[in-house]
Amino acid sequence: MSDCLFCKIVAGEIPSDKVYEDESVLAFRDINPQAPVHILVIPKVHIPSVAAVDADNAAACAKCLEAVAKIAAQEKLEKGFRVISNCGPDAGQTVPHLHFHILAGKDMGEKLL
Ligand code: 5GP
Ligand code: ZN
Repeated sequence: MSDCLFCKIVAGEIPSDKVYEDESVLAFRDINPQAPVHILVIPKVHIPSVAAVDADNAAACAKCLEAVAKIAAQEKLEKGFRVISNCGPDAGQTVPHLHFHILAGKDMGEKLL
C-alpha cells in the first residue's frame, strides 16, 4: 500500500532503527517508546490488523510471532516481555498495518492484562 507508513518503512522510504529482518518480517524500535525496550514487529506484506488475518495471510502473521521469539532471545529479554497488537479504534490502533508491540525492560505488573 503506497500510502501506508509501515509499508514505507519496509520499502526503506522512511528510516527505522531495525533490530531484526528476514524475508517476511521487519522489526524496529518504536519512535515513541512506552517501555525501556519497545519494538514493533511487522509483516512485510500489508495486512491491516489482526482482524484481517485469514487463511491466505496467516503464515505472514505466524512469521511475526516466530520473529518475536527470536528477538526476545537476541535482545536478552530473559525477565519477560509483553506482546500487544492493537486492533481498531477502540484499541487505539493508529497505524493500519498489522504490528506486534514488544514491551520489556521494566516490571509491568499485572494491570492492563
Ligand atoms: P498503534 O498505536 O497503531 O498500536 O502503534 C503504532 C506505533 O507506531 C506507535 O507506538 C507509534 O509510536 C509508532 N510509530 C508511529 N510512527 C512511527 C515511525 O515513523 N517510526 C517508528 N519507528 N514508529 C512509529
Ligand atoms: Zn502497510
